Amino acid sequence: MKAVVIEKPGKLRVASVDDPVPGPDEILIEVKAAGVCGTDVHIFEGAFTCTYPLIPGHEFAGEVIEVGSEVAGLSPGQRVAVDPNVPCGECFFCRRNQQHFCRNLKGYGVLDLPGGFAERVNVRAANAFSIGELSYEEGALIEPLGCVLHGIELIRIQPGDEVLIFGMGPIGLLLAQVCKLNGASLIVGVDRVRENLDLAGRIGLDGGFLSRPDVEATIREAYPLGFDVVIDATGVSGVVESLPGYTRDAGKILYFGVCPRHSPIRLDPFDVYRRELKIFGTFSLLANFDRAIRIVEAGRVDLETIISHRFALDEFERALMLKMGELPARKIIIEP
Ligand SMILES: [Zn+2]
Ligand SMILES: [Zn+2]
Repeated sequence: MKAVVIEKPGKLRVASVDDPVPGPDEILIEVKAAGVCGTDVHIFEGAFTCTYPLIPGHEFAGEVIEVGSEVAGLSPGQRVAVDPNVPCGECFFCRRNQQHFCRNLKGYGVLDLPGGFAERVNVRAANAFSIGELSYEEGALIEPLGCVLHGIELIRIQPGDEVLIFGMGPIGLLLAQVCKLNGASLIVGVDRVRENLDLAGRIGLDGGFLSRPDVEATIREAYPLGFDVVIDATGVSGVVESLPGYTRDAGKILYFGVCPRHSPIRLDPFDVYRRELKIFGTFSLLANFDRAIRIVEAGRVDLETIISHRFALDEFERALMLKMGELPARKIIIEP
């Protein structure tokens, strides 16, 4: 079969590789849609700890074409989305139900296991979730939505909260929708791309600001009391450093975007003390794949609008370059 193979950092090809054969507890999936993520860029650039060569792709959905001898509850023809995380189940964190911190974590397309930028992929049946009538593209986006749900679960948005989000890319657009779903009364976004702000307006954003040098003064003037919740979805440490300036006393700050390693910011602990600021980190997702599928099935979150491009497997390199561009594309879907 054909698959994208990252041989080593900076070197990828679309190659012919051996067909996967499912083990007793695995299923074989024909991949129908797979999302390109910032993490794929990090894997390509060597800024992510994984074993090369690797078939990337950790946001994917497809059709079950074969099931292992011990698999019950899934059968060929079923449409599934895949939770890419494979925890060991035995370490300290797994036994505390914090599988995302598993000390022996593996992951399809991200940590050691072959992923979804391929015609077919093997996964443990336990990692596959039926998506019913959802489209395969929606199925591919359940993973990023699960990550967004995890972050929002951590900060506990309350009805009436006023929220400011930096970065209206695919993740920012999902965060905005989930904040609204949790009862936020005001959601304001900041982005470098006018089109993203327009799109955000169509799916429920109340206000948008273009990221310009004077953006801080402009937002402070418009919202002098600041926001209950301020979220970074840019992964730019300069932006992260500025977040307390927009946060209301007793407010919450969420670091969602992935900053480069070792990019320290200045934070005034007196400010955190005096204003009772609460700072949260969020990593990956945790046991919320099923919830993510349900809210999409119920029509509460729109996944299609975050997609900007679709490419065939052979065009993967072009897709990745587009993702790495100065003004990055929104969600790119690979259709093997
Ligand atoms: Zn991802
Ligand atoms: Zn573990």
